Amino acid sequence: MSETPIFIPLEEAIHISNQTKIELSRETLPLELANNRILGEDLYSKVDDPPFDNSAMDGYAMKFEDTINPPTKLEIIGTVQAKGQRDNITVKSGQAVRIMTGAPLPEGTDSILQIELTSRDENHVILNQKSMKNYVRKKGENLIKNKSFLKKGTLLTPSRIGLCATMGYPEIPVIKKLKIAIISTGDELKQPGQELDLGEIYESNSFGLFGLVKWLGHEPIRYQCIGDTIGDLREILDNASEDCDIIITSGGVSMGEWDFVRKLMEDEGDLHYWRVKIRPGSPPLFGLWRKTPIFGLPGNPVSSHVVFRMLVAPWIRNITSADGPIEPLATAKLTTKLKSSKDCLTFRRVSIELKENNLLAHQKIHQGSGNLASMAFSDGLAVLQPGREYKTGDIVQIMYL
Ligand code: AMP
Ligand code: MG
Repeated sequence: MSETPIFIPLEEAIHISNQTKIELSRETLPLELANNRILGEDLYSKVDDPPFDNSAMDGYAMKFEDTINPPTKLEIIGTVQAKGQRDNITVKSGQAVRIMTGAPLPEGTDSILQIELTSRDENHVILNQKSMKNYVRKKGENLIKNKSFLKKGTLLTPSRIGLCATMGYPEIPVIKKLKIAIISTGDELKQPGQELDLGEIYESNSFGLFGLVKWLGHEPIRYQCIGDTIGDLREILDNASEDCDIIITSGGVSMGEWDFVRKLMEDEGDLHYWRVKIRPGSPPLFGLWRKTPIFGLPGNPVSSHVVFRMLVAPWIRNITSADGPIEPLATAKLTTKLKSSKDCLTFRRVSIELKENNLLAHQKIHQGSGNLASMAFSDGLAVLQPGREYKTGDIVQIMYL
């Protein structure tokens, strides 16, 4: 595989993986179950919303012209509620109607004054100021019937699910969750809860990756953690490629003697790239194992998390055309000086604080890529361009964790 791109910039790695697509299937779900799922088709509103001009306030409806020289005294000729009476009230000059929020504007009215700004004198209302035309919610200002408001691939956040209901859908087509195998590799790894022997540590990556896959709205499947044995690795990859849409491994992609994920992919897989110019997380690989896309993530816990965010998540979003979870990019002012690595885009774990209208980013925890605490106790990653020294007060891009 001499032509495999090696040690490439992040954008190039994303570009390469984006050439690989996956066939997606759909299912229909009731709205209650659609949170954090990805919409499978464009959705068109079944209704105009609001269906009629209505009041944004509890108050009185009247002709604006009648109120331009306050104080104004108008005769109250009726009341309308949100459901909207069908007996048509027509308001003439000198008259007003008591109106509730959401109630249709009676014939002849074009403005509202909220109840708090009025007083009542038997069957008259007294207005001490002009009425408000902008308290009228216009028909169709939210949604227009037969117009598409949510596009295929949209991530279904709570407010978008609410919008589906407003559009008249009790159930909606969503993309079936992708089944994503998570396989940790390493002779030294034990499951939490077991006794550790000399030289062993607890396996943590599969748990973190499990959460990250769910965060993207897909289905993680944790496979048994395997040792550094080519035969076991081949067997588990074969099984995972049968049962899952995507494989994510952790560990075994560097230059070590026991880095069998890389070796196996080089010898028997279809390797699309290996090593990316990012730090932490420079040794990942991407390719196909028996036609199933596979990401080989580095074993260092911080690296595996960063690589998921920087390489796996953008690719999965690309193939499902989901627009989220949106990477919440912002800028922050450094309160510590930081240095990036010579030729890698560098991600430093920082805590982020809002102080006097400025976001401040400080790096306070030891940044070793094996130190998961540095990630767990930070709020974001500061994105540093290769080969640069950043001073206190410099503005950097940040990505929230
Ligand atoms: P590797 O990428 O296999 O060379 O592993 C790099 C470092 O990450 C080593 O110190 C491993 O012990 C550690 N490591 C590998 N996999 C895991 C895992 N699943 N959970 C926690 N640490 C890991
Ligand atoms: Mg290893």
